[in-house]
Amino acid sequence: MSEERSLNFIEEIVEEDIAAGKNEGRVLTRFPPEPNGYLHIGHAKSICLNFGLAKKYNGATNLRFDDTNPVKEDVEYVDSIKDDVRWLGFNWANELYASDYFDKLYEFAVELIKKGLAYVDDSTPAEIAAQKGTPTEPGTPNQYRSRSIIENLELFAEMKAGKYPDGAKVLRAKLDLAAPNMHLRDPLMYRIKHAHHHRTGDKWCIYPMYDFAHGQSDAIEQITHSVCTLEFVPHRPLYDWFINKLNIFPSKQYEFARLNLNYTVMSKRKLLQLVEEKHVDGWDDPRMPTISGLRRRGYTPASIREFCERIGVAKRENMIDVGLLEFCIREDLNKTAWRRMAVLDPVKLVITNYPEGQTEIFSGENNPEAEDGDGSREFPFSRELWIERDDFMEVPAKKYFRLGVGLMVRLKNAYIIKGEDFVKDADGNITEIHCSYIPESRSGNDTSGINVKGTIHWVSVAHAKTAEVRLYDRLFKVEDPGNEDGDFKDYINPDSLQIIPNAYIEPDLANAVSGTPVQFMRKGYFTLDKYSIPDKLIFNRTVTLKDGWAKKGS
Ligand code: ATP
Ligand code: MG
Repeated sequence: MSEERSLNFIEEIVEEDIAAGKNEGRVLTRFPPEPNGYLHIGHAKSICLNFGLAKKYNGATNLRFDDTNPVKEDVEYVDSIKDDVRWLGFNWANELYASDYFDKLYEFAVELIKKGLAYVDDSTPAEIAAQKGTPTEPGTPNQYRSRSIIENLELFAEMKAGKYPDGAKVLRAKLDLAAPNMHLRDPLMYRIKHAHHHRTGDKWCIYPMYDFAHGQSDAIEQITHSVCTLEFVPHRPLYDWFINKLNIFPSKQYEFARLNLNYTVMSKRKLLQLVEEKHVDGWDDPRMPTISGLRRRGYTPASIREFCERIGVAKRENMIDVGLLEFCIREDLNKTAWRRMAVLDPVKLVITNYPEGQTEIFSGENNPEAEDGDGSREFPFSRELWIERDDFMEVPAKKYFRLGVGLMVRLKNAYIIKGEDFVKDADGNITEIHCSYIPESRSGNDTSGINVKGTIHWVSVAHAKTAEVRLYDRLFKVEDPGNEDGDFKDYINPDSLQIIPNAYIEPDLANAVSGTPVQFMRKGYFTLDKYSIPDKLIFNRTVTLKDGWAKKGS
């Protein structure tokens, strides 16, 4: 889809490794989500990168659920993650769970104890924090650090057996309390947590910490390139230390900048709050930056992959404009979506010189962007039509090329008309517009010799169907709601959803198919919502045709 591009820095590393014959040229990556929420567009970037590397270098990718924290995790999330990865167009080599390695990880921990490289510590979290020192002062060893190997083995076995309550003891690596990198100051390996795990049930009451689980899981699977986000840079020495001391497969960690997108939040904790406090209609609300939200909104897998390709793989964090994501879906849908007419804010147009009771059938191409027009469909025309309220101006502005009294405009695929007059109600709202049509100006057979600048869409009143139409705007009013003063939820855009209960749509739209995009001419790209039923159609606007924000700004 994109033009040839130069290698990103991770591809460069992989190519060097292959050239050097490392791991016999084998490439095995993994995507390691924690099943504590739905995947979002940031995860899509990580998925495209990990699966993309494997694809490019004839390798494979494991899907590994990083399920070492029993309290927040759930099978609902596991299922949604699998759906989303598949939907994005990727297949994993193996579906794996860090929890399947709990026995192995326990053995690794015992091995480190036996080597004098781990100890059981009875200190409270506050004591441990205090004893760790500060970046400028070394930490101080406590009395537990010098426990004997025998005692450590015994205590760790008792921790596993459930002899101690939560928080009573931890297992720590005996590393370096003076290390400038605070992560190396005897980091925790295991904590006690008497909690039910969604896969291992009540088998375990001690759970490994991320730093002890992740690298070892990579090594067990013989992952060659373990790609993660920049916040793990300071963890890398620890990743290497454990692997080195255990003398296991030397997986290597590489870090890239996470994707930040403006006008949204991406931390799962914050997304969960939006869901639980009902600011949105679930994880797949079309305003959410989740993969399932984007899918329900009408985004295609190809558009998301293209977006990830375009933003590239950076070593430094930055903020990506959501406009780029919108550009990618517009480009994609422009090529595929069939054009239809729908009137969202209707006002009645009466063609005074068109015979009452007469109907004509017009036709229009499904997609003029496609080479053969992608076929066509028919739609009826009659004396009374619905048009958009803002396609008529009572006092036309300069360069207004739509309808006004005395102004001429073309009705899409039909006739040229000329505005005559209009009717207002007691409140001063226009309720009806009157015009005349030029019979010789029929589209495809126009002998009128009249040239008009504007074309407007319409739907025949007698034949129109109705649908609910949902228009979406940004979920937040500010670019980086997570970094503003106060609660990020204070910055929610109150107008992010506009519901039009009764839009008029051309009859053929009643046959719209779920998952198939349509363009409402001049109004944007739309898709059926998951709650749409034949008796009550609901369309979501995926994106407008042009960038409305660029115009609104300043
Ligand atoms: P959160 O902190 O919101 O819970 P997370 O990073 O902990 O998110 P994980 O499920 O652990 O979420 O992420 C799985 C993988 O996706 C990790 O390798 C992580 O680095 C990557 N990832 C998460 N968020 C982003 C992002 N915004 N951009 C790129 N990669 C991301
Ligand atoms: Mg994480």
